[in-house]
Amino acid sequence: MMELTGPAIGRRMGSILRDKRQSDKGIELSGSVCVLCGWAKKDPFGNLLLHGAHVRGLENVKDYDRFDNIIALCPNHHVEFDRGNLCIDFDAQVCWHINKSDEMHGKKLIGKIVHVQRGYFEYHRVHVFKGAQKTTRL
Ligand SMILES: [Zn+2]
Repeated sequence: MMELTGPAIGRRMGSILRDKRQSDKGIELSGSVCVLCGWAKKDPFGNLLLHGAHVRGLENVKDYDRFDNIIALCPNHHVEFDRGNLCIDFDAQVCWHINKSDEMHGKKLIGKIVHVQRGYFEYHRVHVFKGAQKTTRL
């Protein structure tokens, strides 16, 4: 099996060829920390272990893999974001969690999200987030 490596190629997931440069740019513009908790650990070789998380999860649109749809999240918050446990309120710059007693509920963001296309967090909140803020404006 042919190995796909290098920044110009990225990694293949399903039929979509991901561009690592766009993901890295989204992570960098997020402040190179998990935008929710500030986690920014590296592996023994100095590579950041942060995930480039897609905000608007529409894989079949051409701007899905662009940096302005990608934020830096730690592995734990990436899973919670994708599963709908939490969402990001762009205007208030806070995180909302399905569990109101969770430490992340109402927490101010640590990283930056200003590079993300307006409306993408709203899309995630309406279509992915499973909490009470799903349909009502705060
Ligand atoms: Zn985190």
